[in-house]
Amino acid sequence: MSAILEVSHLQAGYGAVQVVHDVSFRVEKGSVTALIGGNGAGKTTIMKALAGSLRQNAGTVTFKSQDISDLAPHDRVDRGLALVPEGRMIFSHMTVEENLRIGAIVPRARHRSQQRREDIYGLFPRLRERRTQNGGTLSGGEQQMLALGRGLMSMPDLLLLDEPTLGLAPMMAETLFASIAKLQEAGVTILIAEQDTARTLALAEAAYVIENGRVAFDGTGAELLDDPRVREAYLGIS
Ligand code: ATP
Repeated sequence: MSAILEVSHLQAGYGAVQVVHDVSFRVEKGSVTALIGGNGAGKTTIMKALAGSLRQNAGTVTFKSQDISDLAPHDRVDRGLALVPEGRMIFSHMTVEENLRIGAIVPRARHRSQQRREDIYGLFPRLRERRTQNGGTLSGGEQQMLALGRGLMSMPDLLLLDEPTLGLAPMMAETLFASIAKLQEAGVTILIAEQDTARTLALAEAAYVIENGRVAFDGTGAELLDDPRVREAYLGIS
């Protein structure tokens, strides 16, 4: 197995407030890897630092064997690393189609973007039905599909998903987990931060438990599902 992403001694925060103290982990190519942990553990901050929207204070991020720690966000997208942020951040006054087009703005994605859009409509037929509708008028679940679709338009090798099921009805969350599995089959590597610990661990080959801005422990998804520390703190089973 080879790592597509290696994070080494990452530190990040907001102004004088350090939130991520010392985080190291790796994402194997082709895997679904998960970051789990409670509210405020630092998962979103890690994701932002990986995407480059938040500057890290220390540590290195190696993507496809190159140090990308100092690259701007769009340069990271152009190398194949895309973030679907928590809260979706779609453009509410633009149509579904326009939102998707924006995802293909980086050089790596400009060719065959129409085909790519068709593929995404194939994955999420609901988006095709609503392609002329403004993003802001979509339901929460549809907006999440659109955010995912926009991320996929950049043809990522690694997709970072931050809390994709937040605020979704259970059925919609189920659909979303099914599409994550499909993306993996299509060859996309996925790093997911989620509070739906049970379903995330069931899907993930590897997972890291983040507590207070540090990796508390890690294992395979199956190992962590069985781990008493996870069962008690994150699955509510003692
Ligand atoms: P959640 O699942 O609740 O989103 P998380 O693990 O993703 O949690 P983060 O969003 O990374 O956690 O937040 C970690 C800490 O950083 C929290 O204490 C939060 O209040 C703080 N924080 C987040 N964003 C900012 C900001 N812009 N300025 C200052 N502090 C922030």
